[in-house]
Amino acid sequence: MIKAKYPVAKFSEIQTPFYYYDLEVLRETLSEINAQANKNKFHVHYAMKANANPGVLEVIKNAGFGADCVSGGEVEAALKAGVPATKVVFAGVGKADWEINLGLENDIFCFNVESVPELEVINELAAAKGKVANVALRINPNVSAHTHHYITTGLSENKFGINMEDLDLVVDLFPSLKHVKLIGIHFHIGSQITDMTSFQGLCVRINELQQYFLLKNVRLEHINVGGGLGINYEHPNHFPIPDFEAYFNVFRDHLELKEHQTLHFELGRAVVAQCGSLISRVLYVKQSGSKKFAILDAGFTELIRPALYQAYHRIENLSSELPTEKYDVVGPICESSDTFAKGFELNQTKRGDIIALRSAGAYGEIMASQYNLRKLPKAYNSDELI
Ligand SMILES: *Cc1c(COP(=O)(O)O)cnc(C)c1O
Repeated sequence: MIKAKYPVAKFSEIQTPFYYYDLEVLRETLSEINAQANKNKFHVHYAMKANANPGVLEVIKNAGFGADCVSGGEVEAALKAGVPATKVVFAGVGKADWEINLGLENDIFCFNVESVPELEVINELAAAKGKVANVALRINPNVSAHTHHYITTGLSENKFGINMEDLDLVVDLFPSLKHVKLIGIHFHIGSQITDMTSFQGLCVRINELQQYFLLKNVRLEHINVGGGLGINYEHPNHFPIPDFEAYFNVFRDHLELKEHQTLHFELGRAVVAQCGSLISRVLYVKQSGSKKFAILDAGFTELIRPALYQAYHRIENLSSELPTEKYDVVGPICESSDTFAKGFELNQTKRGDIIALRSAGAYGEIMASQYNLRKLPKAYNSDELI
């Protein structure tokens, strides 16, 4: 089984904190996704917002993935990385005019439309260019993802997508809009989903909607079920590659695709999370009453998931094989939420030790901020360092 490797001697020469990507783990992950998706003739668009590091994107592009974008910046980055426009999909509740124009100018595969006013604006902007834009309706399926409420997107209370009650209104608009073509439907119910019954619930809802569109006499070419597959944050060494076979099988077994329809996925986290680590040094070990704090030179400016979603990341001391002790592992930022873990068992730790915060390849580097006027950290990958 593949396992992330750390060139610790090299690390000791590098200014911390920095992100480190093990591209062998990434390549193995991509080839497993390709093997499982190809078996079923599924199309995978990588969700750019999880990680847009150029070295990482290059490897993903070379594996033949399309791109799922949620901003004009991401559309630009995808095209610059060499992803063909015919494999670029563009979602988001608030697409600005310049972002829509960018998509139109490059003839991207599809706009995933989230509201009536957006549909009207795409129609107008496409008309101005004498084009017809391919659109899919992002439908809010009101399916629970059983995940943290901040990363639940498919409930009717969430801001995303078109409510099923409003579908008639939207579908009936199409005959009057000459510069948009309805080619499919799109869903994305949330992130870090590990309970496959959530995806099963989505399939059931899509099957019902297929009936609806049939009755409406609308032919859908594409079904896009979004992303959201979770990873194992507790055991990155034992489960470096998510169970893509089980995931794709849910859709193979529960979704009733028509003969002519293609099925699309937008995986982000599951593609890149396990190949990345945030590498940091211990600045101080501070005894405070009965507690020990390991104070790192990385904080939520480099990895915000614990502060934002109470997320767990496995922490390893790459410099120590001493017996473990309990530490509160914290960053240097002036906020109490700048805590990576409380009472975490780390090999006995001292100033200068190199620490890996695991599974940081998704929603790590891309969410970095300069709060406290901290410098954005660099990133390295295994092709450069090993
Ligand atoms: C964030 C997002 C994804 C990817 O989600 P993951 O949980 O990282 O797989 C896919 N589609 C859309 C529309 C998104 O916003």
